[in-house]
Amino acid sequence: MDSYDVVVIGAGNGGLTAAATLAKQGLKTLLLERHNIPGGCATSFCRGRFEFEVALHQLSGMGNPSFPGPLRSMLDSLGVADEIEWVEMRNLYRVVVPGKMDITLPANRKGFTDALIEKFPKEKEGIEAFIDLVYKFFTEVIGAFYMRDPEISPLKYPLYFKYALTDTRTIMDEYLKDPLLKLAVSVYWSYVGAPPRLLAFTEYAAMIFAYIEFKPYHMKHGSQILSNALVDSFIKDGGDVRFSCGAKKILTGQGRVTGVMLDSGEEVSAPYVISNASPMVTCGEMLDKEYQREDFFRQMGGHTIGPSAYTLYIGLDCPHGELGITETTNFICTHTDMERSHTEMKMRDNEPGQMLLTCYNVSDPDASPPGTTQIALVDLKYGEPWLSVPPHQYYDYKYLYGDKMLNVVEGLIPGFRAHIEEMEVATPLTHMRYLNTPAGSIYGFDQFIRDSHIFGALDPGIPGLYFAGAWVGGGGFQPTLMSGGSAARAVAKKIRQERG
Ligand SMILES: Cc1cc2nc3c(=O)[nH]c(=O)nc-3n(C[C@H](O)[C@H](O)[C@H](O)COP(=O)(O)OP(=O)(O)OC[C@H]3O[C@@H](n4cnc5c(N)ncnc54)[C@H](O)[C@@H]3O)c2cc1C
Repeated sequence: MDSYDVVVIGAGNGGLTAAATLAKQGLKTLLLERHNIPGGCATSFCRGRFEFEVALHQLSGMGNPSFPGPLRSMLDSLGVADEIEWVEMRNLYRVVVPGKMDITLPANRKGFTDALIEKFPKEKEGIEAFIDLVYKFFTEVIGAFYMRDPEISPLKYPLYFKYALTDTRTIMDEYLKDPLLKLAVSVYWSYVGAPPRLLAFTEYAAMIFAYIEFKPYHMKHGSQILSNALVDSFIKDGGDVRFSCGAKKILTGQGRVTGVMLDSGEEVSAPYVISNASPMVTCGEMLDKEYQREDFFRQMGGHTIGPSAYTLYIGLDCPHGELGITETTNFICTHTDMERSHTEMKMRDNEPGQMLLTCYNVSDPDASPPGTTQIALVDLKYGEPWLSVPPHQYYDYKYLYGDKMLNVVEGLIPGFRAHIEEMEVATPLTHMRYLNTPAGSIYGFDQFIRDSHIFGALDPGIPGLYFAGAWVGGGGFQPTLMSGGSAARAVAKKIRQERG
């Protein structure tokens, strides 16, 4: 039987950084992935002459070499940051509510503030005070939460104690009036799938702060390039990786993890396992009954499964400029009610309320062959309603919603449909199949206030078993990539302690 210090199950973002970090520390590590390529969500696929990015619309936390964000520092430590050509975006996003608002917000504090004031001059004071609060509050979050200040107190961090678990809508209502303005400043709610009423101000401020200060990024050739670079770094440092090789069972004995059984039935021994699969799959399907701790399942029961996505991957046969597309990141909203948009995420046959149209070529002209354009049009959707679609109707449902999305886009960009050369559709069931996540969740559990990381992480309570990825660190590239590093460091520390 092959023997390892650690087995990592799953080569999504969290699994990849966990494995690369362990190998860098000299630990004998095996990485298992059931798919034939690394990345999980962070992959690409080809149709016709296009290579489509599956997931990444905007990467947070990178920064540039002279002002590195936390993610760049981490990728640097793994030796992969310089392997990638980073594409910085100059604007955060454009928000369009047809006939009512069209605003583009630059990725710098002054530009962001000025653009809002220009559009909503009567709310100048409220806008300035709101953005000021976001910055002052998040500076306190960094000290109190991220730096774990031992002298934390309400006196030292008054805003943190007052607002950390307040919902974003309550605070926005204090400072801003116009529903269009509220939509413009909080449209990023869809990046975590929690509307302002359910979104902790900490999470909101973190997004605005991270994207403004460290800028949003893409990578040339898409996020597959990062996944590949992480695997290369892992192999270079002595790691073993097996693709098309799922983990079937986590082996246990004498109260702890002892190894992993592969889908083939082969067993490998290891005292530590980091799982990038969901805790439901990991603990519910891979562990023997006697190791399925009731208190852990009760703890999980306090959470709900987060959203998946419905995405149209579109290759246009013309340059984006020909259709008047000028921004990379475009939120298209048919109404301003974000609570309603969240409710619509639980439906299959609603009219689209909020979509994200990303045109990769605006910031990276090489995102598709010369004279063409790569577009991703995405709408968050919970997986539940898709699970009840009878197989013989799946095809109809799959295309019906996409057709509605394209109608909205056509209204905004006349001629769009006629230029579609390639199109592929991903529904929550597609993500379920490729990621092995319950209901195709792409962000792990819902990220409502009650799920805030301030309350601590999920602990399966089984010596040797750790998690990495969206289910424990929150969804999105930056959190999942960082969570793998944290899990690996925790395991490495344990091993060092054991070995003296
Ligand atoms: C359409 C879309 C758009 C998105 N847009 C953005 C964005 O713009 N910005 C952003 O930051 N984030 C975005 N995200 C979210 C982000 O991509 C995910 O939250 C993140 O990549 C999830 O990473 P993860 O580590 O949890 O692993 P996952 O991506 O869930 O991967 C888990 C891996 O584990 C493997 N696995 C599961 N079970 C087993 C098993 N038994 N044995 C072996 N392997 C197993 C799976 O095959 C998979 O490869 C988007 C996601 C999607 C789908």
